[in-house]
Amino acid sequence: MLFVSAHLPEKRRAGVVVPVEGDRWLVMLGGWLKDYPPADEAGFLEYARNLHEPHVYEAIRNAEPLGPPLPYRFPHSQWRHYERMPRFPEGLAVVGDALCSFNPIYGQGITTAALQAEVLDASLRGGLGDLARRYRQRVALSILGPWYMSTSEDLLIPQVEGERSRIMGLMKWYMDRFMRVATCDEQALKTFMQVMHMVKPPTAFLAPSLLRKVLGRLPTDAEWPAAPEPVSIPVEASPLQRHEGMAG
Ligand SMILES: Cc1cc2nc3c(=O)[nH]c(=O)nc-3n(C[C@H](O)[C@H](O)[C@H](O)COP(=O)(O)OP(=O)(O)OC[C@H]3O[C@@H](n4cnc5c(N)ncnc54)[C@H](O)[C@@H]3O)c2cc1C
Repeated sequence: MLFVSAHLPEKRRAGVVVPVEGDRWLVMLGGWLKDYPPADEAGFLEYARNLHEPHVYEAIRNAEPLGPPLPYRFPHSQWRHYERMPRFPEGLAVVGDALCSFNPIYGQGITTAALQAEVLDASLRGGLGDLARRYRQRVALSILGPWYMSTSEDLLIPQVEGERSRIMGLMKWYMDRFMRVATCDEQALKTFMQVMHMVKPPTAFLAPSLLRKVLGRLPTDAEWPAAPEPVSIPVEASPLQRHEGMAG
């Protein structure tokens, strides 16, 4: 896959190109604060051209769209704190977006819903007594990590409304260094991917062996790997075309 990520708060556009079933590619563009990608083909391509790296534009500019861009607008992230309610109906468990919906650009919703199903399973194994309260407490803990990861990114933009904790500035400083290490260090990169995929909690970023690397000497520009050159998918060789050829 190809991912030109935003770098908040300055660079507020992102683009993704992912291979999907049927020899096709899924292309997603997005921006923050109502910076919507246009839903027409020419505007969509122009938006891709204005990402801060050329790779997505170069990859898609010759590709053939199978349909018009489909817009989706997300107004705000939302976590309903049912665990704080003093009274709650017994026998009711709230799961998924109804409990917490994240900015979809971070791709967390389905994974967190699956983790919530695991919490429900574990809670049920403790019997039916006091189930609703036990589930609500545990499920809130399972949301904390992903909620912090996505909202702390969005809150880097001054115009985004929400509570900013003091620790956020420190974490941003640490994570900027961490990402620099992760471009050269296998352990750091692996940990980053594991946390992003919610296999490990965000506290894994602070493992002692990683702390030493992140707080120590950072790789210099000369040691930093160069970004790969953009690759255009030529129309003749595009998987899209091959698929159409097969279908036709
Ligand atoms: C553009 C976009 C991209 C995303 N990308 C990712 C990603 O890459 N990775 C990831 O993990 N998550 C992603 N998500 C988030 C993910 O899709 C959601 O978190 C997930 O679908 C939530 O599942 P859910 O079952 O809680 O809610 P939903 O999937 O919204 O399901 C709720 C269902 O209830 C139905 N319904 C609503 N009201 C009623 C009613 N009164 N009676 C009967 N039925 C009703 C709705 O029609 C719907 O089918 C993305 C979301 C969006 C919008």
